Amino acid sequence: MLFDRNNLPANLIQQAINMPKIELHVHIEGATQAETFYELAKKNKVDFGVESLEEWKSFFEFKDFGHFLQVYTKSITALKTPEDYTHIITEFYRQQAEQNIIYSEAYISASFIIQKFDTKEILDAIEKGIQQGSEKYKVKINFIPDISRELVDSQMAVAGFAIEGFNRGLFIGLGIGGPEQGFPPELFTEAFKKAKSNGLRLVAHAGETEGAKSIWGAINTLGAERIGHGVRSLEDPKLIQYLVDNKITLEVSPTSNYALGIIKNGDMHPIRQLLDAGVICTINSDDPAMFSTSLVQEYFLLLKQGFDCKELYKMNLQALKVSFACNETKAKITDQLENYEKNRILFEPKDK
Ligand SMILES: [Zn+2]
Repeated sequence: MLFDRNNLPANLIQQAINMPKIELHVHIEGATQAETFYELAKKNKVDFGVESLEEWKSFFEFKDFGHFLQVYTKSITALKTPEDYTHIITEFYRQQAEQNIIYSEAYISASFIIQKFDTKEILDAIEKGIQQGSEKYKVKINFIPDISRELVDSQMAVAGFAIEGFNRGLFIGLGIGGPEQGFPPELFTEAFKKAKSNGLRLVAHAGETEGAKSIWGAINTLGAERIGHGVRSLEDPKLIQYLVDNKITLEVSPTSNYALGIIKNGDMHPIRQLLDAGVICTINSDDPAMFSTSLVQEYFLLLKQGFDCKELYKMNLQALKVSFACNETKAKITDQLENYEKNRILFEPKDK
């Protein structure tokens, strides 16, 4: 795994890697490595139109948003059997454990899954991935199926799928992702209502390519408890105040924002501004394999932008608090975080 550690002191690099971390916004398909998709395509006889792994890897590399969508669409064609999900889920556990991410909430693109698989078969395969992964890698991951906005008509089936998985203890909530433009939150009220009445937690991507209006919609019409991205809330001071007053968390993914041009390269990321305003923010990698990042690299990025390890540690405690984990998990993970802090000096800016 590539960690961009240019110009960072060794003690900060080590601490960013070693610190037990919480991640609340990461997509299982977007976290799957190029090599894994390549192997699955070979196994399933899916033609990626490339001659070699090297050629596939150079295609897979992030170039721009349009290309990213092409990579995403092509990659997931390799997922042809329920067992492929068992495999990518187990791989995902390994990657999170390697980065000392001890608790995660991960999205799974359910609009595509329900088109391809029988519900019971795919839920069995997901369950197997969760069992194998958690047993082997000892980290906790909760999954959240999300509706792809461009597939509006899939929403009730996804809600049904999410509820079935929730009742089996595999999922904790429902989300929406995909293109914001042309697909406002208001289109998805029915699915969210159904999920809520069945006890699922609610979260929505909003305020990324669209502005504050999209976030208001996610809150007011969907009842989203957390917002994926939401960085454009800064365009509306009333919304910022509302997020602060109602403790609505933003799942911030810095590299993703730069990659998709939401924040200009060379500009400071507005996460500092959001935190200063009192908004709860968490740090995330979004689609790490496809954006050539990782959660550790997101920490490097923030350390370079003036954050210190103590602050990052506190953000982890906060992330756990706003997570959808049950009380028992929260207590266990809090212990792990506090034990780490007790036994170490967390580097402050003066140590840099
Ligand atoms: Zn996302």
